[in-house]
Amino acid sequence: MKELADGVWHVQCLPGLPWAINAYLAGDVLIDAGARQSTGRILKQLDGHEVTAHALTHAHPDHQGASRGVCERLGIPYWCPEADIRAAEDPTMIRELQPDKFIAGFYWRVFHGPGRKVDRAIKGGDEVAGFEVIDTPGHSAGHVTFWRESDRVLIIGDVLTNMHQATGLPGLHQPMRALTPDAEENRRSAKKLAALEPELVCFGHGGPLRDPAKFVDFVDSL
Ligand SMILES: [Zn+2]
Repeated sequence: MKELADGVWHVQCLPGLPWAINAYLAGDVLIDAGARQSTGRILKQLDGHEVTAHALTHAHPDHQGASRGVCERLGIPYWCPEADIRAAEDPTMIRELQPDKFIAGFYWRVFHGPGRKVDRAIKGGDEVAGFEVIDTPGHSAGHVTFWRESDRVLIIGDVLTNMHQATGLPGLHQPMRALTPDAEENRRSAKKLAALEPELVCFGHGGPLRDPAKFVDFVDSL
């Protein structure tokens, strides 16, 4: 794994596409868990690291896919934003909560993993592995991001992506409309994050961004 900031490691979830679907080890907490096909790959990368909990930015198929496998193998609790808990526990709910679009159904079939009982509801103001939890709804009802003010690191989930999700080309984008039930609310969440002027942004999709001005300018343009 590559260490992107003090105690923040990138976990690659798909073979051959290093930044297509990302998870992160922040301190001793695994944030997100790729697709169900990622389970063995994630466990292998975590080998030798202390992991005491697994948290989600949001319960979508390419973030919760390996959650149950990882929690069970490592014997660790599952933490999820409150409004996404029913989807994390019963992934058929993910489809019902997402727009009724072909691409949403396709991603769901390809990536989703089994549900698991959530052990802790996380919400804005909580602390996770030295990060502050920030409520950033829109891409999902419960979506949260993780912010560490001391070195201005933001783990942003899918509020924005740094890769075009269809072409794979790098660049800042809003998440796909077909996967985002409330794009307007997601833009409000992005503006809240731009006000933080993060030095490092770690995305669910796409490589890390170390350019606060670029991040802020993009959000201003929305
Ligand atoms: Zn995603």
